[in-house]
Amino acid sequence: MVMIATHRGMDAGILHAEAGQQAIFDGVIVIGAGGAGLTAAHALLKAGVPVMVLEKEARLAEPWHRRHAQLHLNTHRDLSALPGVSFPAGTLAFPHRSAVIRHLNEFLQPQMNAKQAAAMFDQTKSEALVVINDLIERKVVGLLTESYTLRRYSEELDRRRREVSGEL
Ligand SMILES: Cc1cc2nc3c(=O)[nH]c(=O)nc-3n(C[C@H](O)[C@H](O)[C@H](O)COP(=O)(O)OP(=O)(O)OC[C@H]3O[C@@H](n4cnc5c(N)ncnc54)[C@H](O)[C@@H]3O)c2cc1C
Repeated sequence: MVMIATHRGMDAGILHAEAGQQAIFDGVIVIGAGGAGLTAAHALLKAGVPVMVLEKEARLAEPWHRRHAQLHLNTHRDLSALPGVSFPAGTLAFPHRSAVIRHLNEFLQPQMNAKQAAAMFDQTKSEALVVINDLIERKVVGLLTESYTLRRYSEELDRRRREVSGEL
């Protein structure tokens, strides 16, 4: 797994590959991890172009979080899905905004252990990480924010505690 650390939207083109080191990013920087940005990043990665997605918000799908609670898409779910993923079975034909939020998040599922991610934030002193799976395929598998990682870490710790105490 390869991780690219960025200071969210601040230093376009500059990577903090390791603490205290800078390197020029030789690839395409996509601004915004909405449907358009993620679709563009996906297409570029498929074409073998390294991509870094910069998102200004602390969580994915922020515009959808701010929209009306009753909002449903007015486009069919089959026409509204991100490339390579479908809305799960049982999703309404015109999905509720919560399904859209879930969909965007599932597209960028972090595949790493939360403890490793927390250590990496510490090491790189960064606020956001774009995670790609390897240098050959260069598939983005996750965009992690520190708050999200710390939440996952505490969920893992809680699950372990309940396993040890026999609650699970
Ligand atoms: C009420 C409403 C209902 C809609 N319903 C539908 C529908 O049913 N079907 C449909 O196809 N479309 C619908 N749309 C349009 C929908 O918003 C777009 O289709 C889709 O979300 C556009 O994706 P996008 O990636 O271009 O923009 P967005 O989803 O807005 O994503 C842009 C992303 O870029 C980030 N960003 C912005 N500026 C910066 C910056 N300077 N640096 C870093 N990151 C940045 C934002 O935080 C955001 O995450 C609707 C829009 C609204 C307002």
